[in-house]
Amino acid sequence: MKTIFAYIRPKLGVMSVQLIIKFAGTVVELLLPWMLSVILDECVPTGDLARIGRWGGLMVLCAAGALVGNVVANRMATRISRDITCRLRSDLFEKVMHLSCAQEDAFTTPSLISRLTSDTYNVHQMVDRMQRLGVRAPILLLGGVAVTLSLEPVLTLVLIAALPLLGVVVWWVSSRGIRLYTRAQEALDGLVRRAQESMAGIRVIQALSKTEYETGRFDEANTEAVRREAAAGRLMSITNPAMNLVLNMGLTLVVIVGAYRTNAGDTQPGTIIAFLSYFTIILNALMMVSRLFVMYSKGAASGRRIAQVLDAPVQMEAEDPQTPKAGGFAAEEEEPGSITFEHVTFSYGKRENDVEDLCFSLRRGETLGILGPTGSGKSTVLRLLLRFYDPDQGVVRIGGRDVRQIPPQELHSLFGVVFQNDFLYAGTIAENIEFGRDLPPGAVRDAARLAQADFIDEKDGKMDAALTSRGTNLSGGQKQRVLLARALAARPDILLLDDSSSALDYKTDAAVRRGLAREFTQATQIIVAQRVSSIRHANHILVLENGRMAGYGTHEELMRTCDRYRETAYAQMGGGEADEAKHTR
Ligand code: ADP
Repeated sequence: MKTIFAYIRPKLGVMSVQLIIKFAGTVVELLLPWMLSVILDECVPTGDLARIGRWGGLMVLCAAGALVGNVVANRMATRISRDITCRLRSDLFEKVMHLSCAQEDAFTTPSLISRLTSDTYNVHQMVDRMQRLGVRAPILLLGGVAVTLSLEPVLTLVLIAALPLLGVVVWWVSSRGIRLYTRAQEALDGLVRRAQESMAGIRVIQALSKTEYETGRFDEANTEAVRREAAAGRLMSITNPAMNLVLNMGLTLVVIVGAYRTNAGDTQPGTIIAFLSYFTIILNALMMVSRLFVMYSKGAASGRRIAQVLDAPVQMEAEDPQTPKAGGFAAEEEEPGSITFEHVTFSYGKRENDVEDLCFSLRRGETLGILGPTGSGKSTVLRLLLRFYDPDQGVVRIGGRDVRQIPPQELHSLFGVVFQNDFLYAGTIAENIEFGRDLPPGAVRDAARLAQADFIDEKDGKMDAALTSRGTNLSGGQKQRVLLARALAARPDILLLDDSSSALDYKTDAAVRRGLAREFTQATQIIVAQRVSSIRHANHILVLENGRMAGYGTHEELMRTCDRYRETAYAQMGGGEADEAKHTR
């Protein structure tokens, strides 16, 4: 809660003003039944209409004052909690954006989404209710008991007798309520996960006619969430009738005892009426306290989930450049844009190595092609280079510097990247290529030309044609070309293309490669590909199998030395074409 309190602290000043207004409004409200008793017991018997009028007028004024005070205080409370939640949510989002991939894997995306949405909502509700009811309920409770004691000590005993019974109800309900609401929150995590999975895979689901199956899966999660919420709701629905039962029994007792005492001349009817009002006020206050408990527990549980993310250590900071790292070259010896992997081993789950003992080196402007079956570690090489993850052993260097020692901003500005499942957002084509980077004029157009995105000229509005979210109004090949243009537009020192030509036809793929060879001579390139034809002209080719290097060299060398590569080349290009590649270099 310390982390969440840091967000509340700046608002403490305005919160105190709100609490004072709330306090004043509630105290005035508490005096109303007492005024009524004065009118009934002291003014009515004298028949002094003017005095009755004065007291009545005062009551109206006090009621109006209490109303205005409560409305003002509630509005202030809403504004305060809204501001707190707004800051909390935006800081949380920013933190999520800065989480390392390993941290994101550990939290899981659905859980991060529900922390950003429903958990921040719960904290909002908690802060809001604490301000509204946190002051009101205790004042009504304690003030009510104090006034009734001074009004009618004997009848207060009836009230005090009812209190333990109510205490048991409140304790039982809130202790079970916290558990049930926590379970409901967990079910919501599951619901978000299902919804997210289905949304992400909606096209595949439709294509495979799995819509009903997915709807069924979602229904399961939905029913579970509803069942748990309903269980909590059912428990809460017991509270009011149970409290009312105790309340009505208490009221009956007060009336009976009161009637005897009035008959005996020990008390007056006005006092009994005031007492009945206080009795109701006190019990309502108790109900508020019980709701506050549930609210607090829900908010506190959510606050802890949010704090876990906010307090997560920043893993992407650059390390001290002085720290010596194992082996390698000194920074001065290397040219900028060169890439070296020195005996790099890495495992996601820290059990089995996902890539092992990778060693290769690229000079500036050279191209590396990576080939290998799915799951062989091709994308992992790129992730290690981008420092999405740090290697468990070995060193990744760019321009001779260990990537861990390059500040993240500087590191990421070196790259142009196209990932396998990259995204386009709703906006114009130009905006999607520019990507908010303030590129020099003409850069977007040049990049589109290099990426062979001629289709843009045939679109209505050309560069200003609108794309839908995730680029669903483009074909697979068109999407890849826009993404490629985005990667090229900033003229990066290093270009990483992860299977970015799989949806391009051979001719376009070749045209893109020719363009890059002509105009991107200074950029070091790493191309992950399924097709040998996409990488056979690369300066170096890395063949991966189960995370290990099954071959490394040029196309010709690998055709001679690497069975795996030769088999793939023959299978894809046929013998003649594959061999011919030897002579076309
Ligand atoms: P490729 O790009 O060759 O298809 P990847 O580099 O994506 O393969 O994956 C290599 C291995 O690492 C696979 O076995 C995959 O299951 C595993 N892997 C990839 N990403 C993660 C992740 N975020 N968490 C755990 N394991 C992962």
